[in-house]
Amino acid sequence: MERILEDWLLHTNRRPKILIADDQPTNIRVLYELFSAQCDIFMAANGEQALKICRAELPDLILLDVVMEDIDGHEVCRRLKADPLTSTIPVIFITAQNQAADEVIALGLGAVDFIVKPINSVIVRARVQTHLTLKLQGDLLRAHAFLDGLTGVGNRRKFDDDLLTNWRQCLRDKVPMSLILLDIDYFKRYNDRYGHQSGDSCLKLVAKTLCESLRRPHDKVARYGGEEFACILPKTKREDAVRIAEAMQERIRALDIEHLGSEVDRVVTTSSGVATLVPALGGGPEALLAAADVQLYEAKRGGRARVCAAGDE
Ligand code: GH3
Ligand code: MG
Ligand code: MG
Repeated sequence: MERILEDWLLHTNRRPKILIADDQPTNIRVLYELFSAQCDIFMAANGEQALKICRAELPDLILLDVVMEDIDGHEVCRRLKADPLTSTIPVIFITAQNQAADEVIALGLGAVDFIVKPINSVIVRARVQTHLTLKLQGDLLRAHAFLDGLTGVGNRRKFDDDLLTNWRQCLRDKVPMSLILLDIDYFKRYNDRYGHQSGDSCLKLVAKTLCESLRRPHDKVARYGGEEFACILPKTKREDAVRIAEAMQERIRALDIEHLGSEVDRVVTTSSGVATLVPALGGGPEALLAAADVQLYEAKRGGRARVCAAGDE
């Protein structure tokens, strides 16, 4: 278990979180004693509480009793697996039901393991260790799959995901959402003149600068394509988005990266398209993306090194 804790601290900077859900306090106590030295433990005395804690804390593993008074363990598991937010949390049933048929049901619901009471603490520890290791590996892989390898910001897949999630949230909240598309000017010539490696360094610096320009936790930067970046700004009206886009351009220019092949400046500059929409029922975020793209094109056509914007308040 010490080894597992080391891995978690190394990769995530925190201890693994385990939720124990059982309507018998003595059962909870036994499991608590087994894991509290290495893990952060959350406890639920019924299904309702278990679900609430899962959504709020996103535990890394759930030890779930089957028979509980309100919502039973099977139903808790079903609901967790149906919600994208909680579907990757591994569930281990710990139950007095010891028939093969019970185990089949549990595994069919998506549980990773099934342990019969009374528990053997050595076996429970071993199984929990295995599943915490797998959870960590899964988390790392999932995070990796959404990152752009060169710049460390979100990749196109992450952008598509974030765009849709934020669109839905802004639709629910009836607030505007803004999108900035930003493209480096004459970047092909930059590569031609300074080499591909310098081009890569430039991309990294631009990405870092964009991240530093964002202030709110829900604002997101992604690499949209080769030398094009996208910033998602939920709950942001047009004038604020424009201000942010202009600040980004200013910071990138201030990096003072020599670019003698550019026709607009002696340093690396960018062009940005900004669009703002209040999401409406029936439509998707494609309209926002298309509008930002049109504005980016306008910025290029209008002479580059500028911000162009469109959209409702
Ligand atoms: P414009 O001002 O119209 O945007 O001109 P541009 O040259 O920037 O645009 P264009 O689309 O013609 O060229 C984009 C260049 O970006 C071409 C490609 O070599 C470069 N690029 C794309 N991805 C990478 C990358 O990962 N690393 C490097 N070094 N260059 C890249
Ligand atoms: Mg370009
Ligand atoms: Mg481009």
